[in-house]
Amino acid sequence: MRSIKSKIIVFSILATLIPSLGLGILSFQQNETMINENVTRELRALANYASRELELWIKEQNLTVRELATSKILIEGLSKDNQAQARKNKLKVQRKGLELYLQSVHKRLETVLELTVVDVEGGILASNVESPFPVKLSPDWPQDASIQGEVVAPPQWNADYATAVLSIAVPILSVDDFILGALIVTFDLRDIQSNLKDKIKSPPGDVLLLDKDGNVMLASDAAIVNPENPVSLDPAVIERLRNNPGEYEIFQGPRQEKVAGLAYMSEKPLITIIATRSHQLIYAFWEQQRNLFVGLISIIILVVAAIAFQMSHAIVVPLRRLIDATGKIVQGDLNVELTSMQRNELGQLTQMFNQMTNQLRLDQAKIEEASAAMQQKNALLETLSVTDSLTGLFNRNKLNAIINDQLARYERNKRPFSVLMIDVDHFKTLNDSLGHVAGDEIIAGIARKISQSIRNVDFAARFGGDEFIIILADTAISEALKTAERIRAHAASVHCSTISKTFKVTLSIGVIQSEPEDTSLTILLSRVDGALYEAKRSGRDRVYCVQPKSDSAT
Ligand code: GH3
Ligand code: MG
Repeated sequence: MRSIKSKIIVFSILATLIPSLGLGILSFQQNETMINENVTRELRALANYASRELELWIKEQNLTVRELATSKILIEGLSKDNQAQARKNKLKVQRKGLELYLQSVHKRLETVLELTVVDVEGGILASNVESPFPVKLSPDWPQDASIQGEVVAPPQWNADYATAVLSIAVPILSVDDFILGALIVTFDLRDIQSNLKDKIKSPPGDVLLLDKDGNVMLASDAAIVNPENPVSLDPAVIERLRNNPGEYEIFQGPRQEKVAGLAYMSEKPLITIIATRSHQLIYAFWEQQRNLFVGLISIIILVVAAIAFQMSHAIVVPLRRLIDATGKIVQGDLNVELTSMQRNELGQLTQMFNQMTNQLRLDQAKIEEASAAMQQKNALLETLSVTDSLTGLFNRNKLNAIINDQLARYERNKRPFSVLMIDVDHFKTLNDSLGHVAGDEIIAGIARKISQSIRNVDFAARFGGDEFIIILADTAISEALKTAERIRAHAASVHCSTISKTFKVTLSIGVIQSEPEDTSLTILLSRVDGALYEAKRSGRDRVYCVQPKSDSAT
C-alpha cells in the first residue's frame, strides 16, 4: 500500500465499487420491494379468483339441490301419511321407491356422489347407495334451513371416494311449507378443480383447498393431491397464514419446494384457500439480474484496475527513472540523460531534469577549471612561500623546516648530515662599487653555482644578504668538506651581465656535521655560524671544518 501504484489501483477500484454497489443495492432493494408487492397482489388475485369460482359453483349446486328438493316424489314420499304408513309395515317398499328415484337422479348428475333423504330428526330414510356418507346435521338445521334455504357442510376428505366432498342439505317442504325432511346431496369437489384457476386471467401459481385440519383436499393442479399419500402443510405455517390472511410468507410447498403463499378464508363454507407460487420462479429474474450485475461490476472493476495499472505505470516508471537518475547525481555521476516521449507534466519534469543535469555538468566543468587554476596558483604560492625571490633557493622559513626535519631524522636513525654556511668575502665593497643591481646579479650567480655543485637530495637556502646554507643529507663531515671546496672553486668567478664583466669572488665556508648535542635549530646554526666565523677570522677564502667530537678539527 505504500507505493503510488497500489494506491492508485486501490483508489480506482474503490471509487468504482462503492457507487456501483451502492446504486446496485438500492435498485435491487427497490426491485425486491416491487417483486414482493407484485407477488402479494398476484397471490391475492389467484386466491380471490378461486374463492369466487367456489362460491359460484356452490350456488349452482344449491340451485340443483333445491330443484331436486321440490320433486313431487320426494314430497309425497316424505308426507306424514306416507311416513305413518311406512312406519306401519310398508317401510321397505316406501324406502325402495325413494331409493330408486334417488338412483335415477344420481345417474343424471355426474358430479353427485350421493343423494340421501333424511327425516326432520336427521334419520336416514333413503339413499342412492347402501351405506351413505354420514352427514351430521346440527340439531338446529331446520331453523338454519328455513332462514338460509340450505345448509352447506364444510368440505372434507372422503376416503371411500378418495376425493374431497361437499354436502348440501336442502329442506323438503310439504305443500303447506311444512318441513318434512331434507335432501342431502354430496358433491365431488373435483368438479370445480379446473375452475379454480383461469388459464388466461389467473396469475401463475397453485391454488390449494385445505380442510379444517390443514390437509390439502383439492388443488388447481391435480398432481398435487395424491389419495395414497395425502399432502399436508406445516400446521404452524397454516396457523400463521390463517392469522394473517392476504399476507404472504415463504414456506415448504406441497411439491416439497420453497414457495411464497398466502391464505384466503372463506366463511361459507368454512374453507381455507391457499395460493402459492414457486419461490424460485419469483426470484429467477431477480437472481438473473443480480448475477448479470455482479458479472458487469466484475468486468468494470477489471477494466478500471487495468486502466489504473496502466496509468500508475505511466506515472511510476518515469518517476522511478528520475529517482534512479537523481541517485546517480547524488553519488556524483552527472553523465545522466533521460528520454521521455510523454507530453505531460512528467515529460516536462524529465525535460527540466535534463536541463538541470546539463547545467550541473557545465557548472561542474567550470568548477573543475577554476579548481585546476587554483591548484596551480596554490602550487606557485607554495613554491613562492618557500623560495627566495632573488636566488630561487629555499628561503629562511623553508630552511628552518628542513633543518628541523633533518634533526628529527638524525635523532631517529643516527645517520649524520652536514651543514655548510657560506658568506661572500668583502661583498659590501663589491656592492658599493658596482651598485646594488649588479650586486644582486652576483648573489644570484653565486647561488646558481652553489645549486650546480650539490646533489638533488641536498638543500640550498639563502640565509640572508650574501650568506647561504647548504644541508647535505646523509653526509659525513669528510664528504661535506669536499662539497664545500667544490663550491668554493666553482664560484671563484661570476659573470655580471648588467655590466658585462666577470668578477673574481672568494667565499668563506663553515662546515659542521650533526652531533647528538644539536638538539635544536638554534644550536646547530650557532655551531655552523661559529665555523664560518673561524673561516673569516683565519683569513677568508677558505673552508673551516668543525671535526665531529670523535675526530680532530681541520
Ligand atoms: P666580509 O668579508 O666580512 O663578509 O665583508 P663583507 O663586505 O662581505 O661584509 P658583510 O658580509 O657583512 O656585508 C654584506 C653586504 O652585502 C652588506 C650589504 O651591503 C650587502 N647586501 C646585503 N644584502 C644584499 C642584497 O640583497 N643585495 C645586494 N646587492 N647587496 C646586499
Ligand atoms: Mg660577506
